[in-house]
Amino acid sequence: MKVEKLEGTCLSYYLPDVKLLIDAGAYTDKPVKTLILTHCHCDHFTYAAKIIEEQNPKVFVGRKDVKALVEMGEKIVPEFAVNLTPIIAEGLKEGDVVEGLRVFETPGHTEGSVCLLKNGFLFSGDTLFDKGVGRWDLPSGDYVKLMESLERLKSIPYKFLMPGH
Ligand SMILES: [Zn+2]
Repeated sequence: MKVEKLEGTCLSYYLPDVKLLIDAGAYTDKPVKTLILTHCHCDHFTYAAKIIEEQNPKVFVGRKDVKALVEMGEKIVPEFAVNLTPIIAEGLKEGDVVEGLRVFETPGHTEGSVCLLKNGFLFSGDTLFDKGVGRWDLPSGDYVKLMESLERLKSIPYKFLMPGH
């Protein structure tokens, strides 16, 4: 499976075989049929509005971040104020499969954070990094839930970790 890493306000990943983009912290003009956001934070959807406007992909986010994603887009965040706009996304739940990516609900960094697994690649958003874990002190963050989610990730048989930063 080909995975292209895009660097921007977060690390985003493009899967050319299925024309799928995971997070939109960087702009791409490659064909995007599906956009999955790992959670509702603005550094992960900086370029989502532009890509949606240009390509009209299906857009997904964890079901518990659907509302927060809209609200985040309405806020003015000077640091990432690149076309921020409320993003309307369909909610993902545990066990959903999108273009071969299996969805794991991993609350803690945000209530609706998800990790995605395909062919041994685990796209972990801001839940798990190479060194360390995501913050739990932002709105809807929860330390206990994050620890539980990290414990769960240990049982997932992934080979390559693809974190959001
Ligand atoms: Zn985040």
